[in-house]
Amino acid sequence: MLSLYCLNTGQSANVSGAAKKMASQWTRVNSAEKKVPHTRIEDEADIQQTYSFGRKLGQGSFGVVFEATHIETQKKWAIKKVNKEKAGRSGVKLLEREVSILKRVNHAHIIHLEEIFETPKKMYLVIELCEGGELKRLLQKSKRLSEEETRHIISSLAEAIVYLHKKDIVHRDLKLENILIKSYHHSDDNGVVNIKVTDFGLSVQKGGVGSENMLQATCGTPIYMAPEVINGHEYSQQCDVWSIGVIMYMLLYGEPPFMSSSEEHLYELIKKGELNFSGPVWDTISDAAKKVLRCLLKVDPAHRITASELLDNPWIGGDNSMNASPTNVLEMMRQFRDAPEDGECDELSTGFSSLSLSRSQESLAEPAASPEFPTAPALLPGSVPGLSLEVDTDSNSSKPSTPTKQHQKKKNSSSSSNGTKKNGPPVKMCNTLGSSSAQVGRL
Ligand code: ADP
Ligand code: MG
Repeated sequence: MLSLYCLNTGQSANVSGAAKKMASQWTRVNSAEKKVPHTRIEDEADIQQTYSFGRKLGQGSFGVVFEATHIETQKKWAIKKVNKEKAGRSGVKLLEREVSILKRVNHAHIIHLEEIFETPKKMYLVIELCEGGELKRLLQKSKRLSEEETRHIISSLAEAIVYLHKKDIVHRDLKLENILIKSYHHSDDNGVVNIKVTDFGLSVQKGGVGSENMLQATCGTPIYMAPEVINGHEYSQQCDVWSIGVIMYMLLYGEPPFMSSSEEHLYELIKKGELNFSGPVWDTISDAAKKVLRCLLKVDPAHRITASELLDNPWIGGDNSMNASPTNVLEMMRQFRDAPEDGECDELSTGFSSLSLSRSQESLAEPAASPEFPTAPALLPGSVPGLSLEVDTDSNSSKPSTPTKQHQKKKNSSSSSNGTKKNGPPVKMCNTLGSSSAQVGRL
């Protein structure tokens, strides 16, 4: 794809005159990318002429996110500050990948990247501020959300993921921490949450057609990880749909669908994919919502509904009755068949097998080595200087196998829940199982 650099003549509304004089501003122009000003500066003092830094909003894998106010307009932003030296070459590549994808997207429920500043040692991403913080925190406070609130969030999330998948982008790290709250309004008994999907560090864009281009790197956070990713099988964008299922289950119930104190056992539970809807909480939730969960959390990705089928599902449209007319062709075809009691999506499988074939033919590439898409081994956390990950360094395989006890032992000694390390920031995980914890307690 054509890609060139051209000098930006200072048209960015956010760059002050002083900063413009001292900085050279380059915008990487690519036919598929929007123009995002990228300003080379000497040091942070140059940015401080344009933005005043405020409170810390969060801790990322390779840097810190601060609130910042644009001095001229008084508009508030979030600035993700990454120390390139600490992140190392692999970390910088992940950041470049994130930037490249953010430049390609423009959607109401996906975070907006405004501009980039870069010093020889640091990189600063100016991004849309989400004052409500992480969806995870809202869930922790509320314990669980109502079906209405959940429907609204899942509908917005589905819209964002349909948009990404149409652009052949797979997020690969959908989880409550990576869904931010732009605003929250109360209406009657329910809150209306406006969400933004963020953190595209593990995302990839389809690089071509052919089954050889299926994804293989094991990425994500254990409790949200799809069975095919755990298995080390080739996989496609359907891994994001599984994560949506985990998120929806957690919003409704307050806890993940699959939990264990052992990573190995957690992966076994995920691969079995047995869902438990017993208990008083589930009694209050519609059968239509449970059906959607079963369709999202289908172990076989070919039988799992797609993001756009989710968007077409009557439950998303506000219909809690199981008899609602289906909106997609496969669902309509299904009505002519006798569906097995517990397999609302199985009936789709015959129709799906042909679709899944075409999906895999249009499968997704880990693009070959390029500055934006490092080859899989380059993403091994163990190769990121400054990060001490529990990685099985004896294994050079880019296609990991089922986690070993060795992985688990290492993990248990230093990890906490949800793929984060006890002693530091959450660390992105790719091509390794066992580098982050599977131990999942309550939120
Ligand atoms: P990483 O890619 O290293 O995980 P993230 O982009 O997820 O970093 O940011 C880390 C944390 O910072 C988020 O989980 C969130 O708490 C906070 N954060 C990031 N971006 C924003 C934003 N635009 N508005 C508010 N908080 C943010
Ligand atoms: Mg994150």
